[in-house]
Amino acid sequence: MSMIRAEYIWIDGTEPDALIRSKTKVIKKGKDLPDWGFDGSSTNQATGDASDCMLRPVFTCPDPFRGPDDVLVLCEVNLVDGTPHPTNTRAQCRPKAEAAAAHDTWFGLEQEYTFMKGGWPYGFPERSFPGPQGPYYCGVGATLVAGRDIVEKHLEACLYAGLGISGINAEVMPGQWEFQIGPLTALECSDHVWMARYLLYRIAETYDVEVSLEGKPMRGDWNGAGCHTNFSTKEMRESYDAIIAACEALGKRTEYHIENYGHGIEERLTGKHETASYKTFSYGVSDRGASIRIPWQCAIDKKGYAEDRRPNANMDPYRVTRVILETICGV
Ligand code: ADP
Ligand code: MN
Ligand code: MN
Ligand code: MN
Repeated sequence: MSMIRAEYIWIDGTEPDALIRSKTKVIKKGKDLPDWGFDGSSTNQATGDASDCMLRPVFTCPDPFRGPDDVLVLCEVNLVDGTPHPTNTRAQCRPKAEAAAAHDTWFGLEQEYTFMKGGWPYGFPERSFPGPQGPYYCGVGATLVAGRDIVEKHLEACLYAGLGISGINAEVMPGQWEFQIGPLTALECSDHVWMARYLLYRIAETYDVEVSLEGKPMRGDWNGAGCHTNFSTKEMRESYDAIIAACEALGKRTEYHIENYGHGIEERLTGKHETASYKTFSYGVSDRGASIRIPWQCAIDKKGYAEDRRPNANMDPYRVTRVILETICGV
């Protein structure tokens, strides 16, 4: 009987930003993926005297690092009685996604991130600064971008795994990059973002480069790293009024959204560097200084989607898509 390797992946309980954990299970080829356990006292998810937590497979894809039959298995974390662990934010998103199903909401996430080496952005000169922002965004050339090798390998791995990746680009600060996932449903998009993050960490590991999702990895005149969240309901894809109604609804719950959009968001949403202050709310066509941007094409077509520019790079997509569904679908 031939055996395969299943890499079980889960999100831990580390505060303020959860870490990804994974371990390998060798199972018989063709056999269903079983629930599995782990030591929650080593992941900030349990105490030593009651340490067992459960892994429930929810999303499986081909493993780009191993053989053709091997798989990656994203899991929800449950308590031993089978109920969701408090850190299981996917379980909190699930019922909202079901309740909002009639609106057929799509999400497209732009995950920005920063490569770091020895605590300093990868591509910055050692302990000093490169020239000011300007030439790096979508840049080409050795002095303008760093880490393209890793980025290309990551794109290839995402495609091999069948993730809904829709593009990549170099970002405004050297060492900063972005990948886009979607459009997909809330749970699919979030699962794929977590899986794509996992692949990125794994590939960068082999280059001894760290991936930072910090919202403001460099102080000063450097853009932060966000995770712009593009969203549309069926109604928004048919009518401009529905896009405006969604923006208006979001404007009534600013604090609730900000508190779910990632730790340290206040340092990034300063009102400078293509952001709107976290204290205010605004929306506008083509406006990259607004909380919500309506793409110009959607203003011309009178239908489409909107972009919530506020979520931080370190946001949890299960939380962000959940609160957007709650607000624009009233669930
Ligand atoms: P930006 O100009 O803000 O950098 P990107 O091209 O990086 O835009 O990302 C746009 C994102 O919007 C993509 O992830 C794409 O999948 C998503 N998107 C496109 N159309 C829709 C839609 N109707 N609903 C939700 N997301 C969408
Ligand atoms: Mn983008
Ligand atoms: Mn970007
Ligand atoms: Mn964007």
